[in-house]
Amino acid sequence: MPRRKYQTAEEVRQARRAAHSRWERTNRDKVNAGRRQRYHGVSHEKTEASRRRATERLRGIIFRRYGEMCACCDTTERLTIDHIGAGGLRHRKEIGRTGGAGAFYRWLMFMYLPPGYQTLCMLCNQTKGQGERCYLDHSVGALSYKEQHRLHKNSKSREAYARQRQDVKDGN
Ligand SMILES: [Zn+2]
Ligand SMILES: [Zn+2]
Repeated sequence: MPRRKYQTAEEVRQARRAAHSRWERTNRDKVNAGRRQRYHGVSHEKTEASRRRATERLRGIIFRRYGEMCACCDTTERLTIDHIGAGGLRHRKEIGRTGGAGAFYRWLMFMYLPPGYQTLCMLCNQTKGQGERCYLDHSVGALSYKEQHRLHKNSKSREAYARQRQDVKDGN
C-alpha cells in the first residue's frame, strides 16, 4: 500500500492553509480588493469615484464661502485657497495637512470655514510668496491665464517678470 502524502485530516488542513497563505503572499492586490469589497460592499473604483465626488462637493462649499474667482486677477481658472498674510505653507505644516487640497479643504470645513482665507488663482498664490500680493501685472488685462502662466514660468523672479512683462507691453 503506497504511503499517502498526508496521514491525518489535520495534516491535510495544515497543508491547505500553508498553500493558501503562499497564494495570499503572491496575490496581495487580489487579497486587498477582496477585503475592500467585503468591508465596504463596493469595488475600489467605486470608492475612488465617491471620494472624488465628495471632494468636489467640498470644493463647491469652500469656494462659495471664500469667493469663486481670484481675489487678485478675477480669473476663475485654477483656484486655490490662500492663507491671507504670510506663512500659508508654514501654517499647513503646523496643522499637519500636507496631504493635498482635499485634506486642507476638510480641515477648513472642520474649523467651520474660519476667516483669514481668500480665493486666489494658482499663479497669484505662487507669486505672492511672503508679500502682500502677487508681483504679476494684471493692469492691462490683455493676457489670458495661459499667457500669464507662460510669462511667469519663463521669468521665475519679480525682476525678470517685470522685464518680460514690459516687453509684452511694448509688443516685442
Ligand atoms: Zn489670480
Ligand atoms: Zn495677482
